[in-house]
Amino acid sequence: METPHLAPFITRKLLLWYDAQARVFPFRGPKDPYRVWLSEIMLQQTRTETVGPYYERFLARFPDVFALAEAPEEQVLKAWEGLGYYARARNLHRAARMVAGERGGVFPGDVEGLLGLPGVGPYAAAAIASIAYGEPVPALDGNLARVISRLFGVQEDIDRPETRRGLYALGLALMPGDRPGDMNQALMDLGATVCLPGSPDCVRCPLKEECVGFQSGNPGALPVRKPKPAPREVSVGVTVFTCAGRALLLKRDKALLKGLYVFPLAEGDDSPESGRDLARSLGLAAGAPTFLAEARHAFTHRVWNMRVYRRETDTAPGVPGGVWADAAMLAALPLPRAMDAAKREALALLRQTGTIRV
Ligand code: SF4
Repeated sequence: METPHLAPFITRKLLLWYDAQARVFPFRGPKDPYRVWLSEIMLQQTRTETVGPYYERFLARFPDVFALAEAPEEQVLKAWEGLGYYARARNLHRAARMVAGERGGVFPGDVEGLLGLPGVGPYAAAAIASIAYGEPVPALDGNLARVISRLFGVQEDIDRPETRRGLYALGLALMPGDRPGDMNQALMDLGATVCLPGSPDCVRCPLKEECVGFQSGNPGALPVRKPKPAPREVSVGVTVFTCAGRALLLKRDKALLKGLYVFPLAEGDDSPESGRDLARSLGLAAGAPTFLAEARHAFTHRVWNMRVYRRETDTAPGVPGGVWADAAMLAALPLPRAMDAAKREALALLRQTGTIRV
């Protein structure tokens, strides 16, 4: 890949377009590093439109890095509930403690320093450094990689490290000395509104005269990417054990959904009998299962196909890592999205029975 001589011209044109068309989001306000960092972590695996309200609520709850650092992890996870990919929230919390503690509240001021914070990878570091500090580095995520590969007609597999390095060099050539943050955001906006995955809307694009992909006649064929293996489909039996208006939740200690509360579940077995083995391992004397719901949840590498059952127990013994939650507690604890259907069914059950016995 050659660095194109048109790069400075493309940059000027795109910034003019951005000045007129920039999308308005709550997080595109002050360039305070805490706010920029928070929004970039939220935006990593979540749609921009979804992030806005979460960002505002989170910021109201934790207005600065000290407030976030002082909060218990459970409160941070609760505020994150619904955004998914909870490792981000745990890393965010660890990074806040690092910045508030070791660094007296001062964020690292460049890409290299930012990469030392938990949860901050090359993309986030570049986005934060360019937006908050004006460092001229491209924030190369899938969105930017798509736009740049079309713009310069890159024909190599976009997932190969050599191709990524080439795309990074092209992105670097596009960075102006004075407004790199705006340029990254302009490229992001172009990718999100015009240069869309699948079929780019080239007629509306300010760069169509310069775009190699458009000029070649088939920009939608770019970027080149080898198909990825499909995520693994897994059957999962979820059992809502209930006892006198309470339901049993377990705090996950596995890497997937670590630190969040889930109903007892059996990966690989969605039969009604999955609850019997769970009951045995948890030391519960449980009644026969009643089917409640079906649900499906896709993680990055696997998909849970869930069948949710209820089993009533006579007693509610202590379970390591477990809590017998009434409806109010169930609503307050951090549960992952994957548990939405089971939670909904459990809340309906607990609200029916919660006032009978405690
Ligand atoms: S002309 Fe089309 S393919 Fe090229 S950057 Fe614009 S929208 Fe993308």
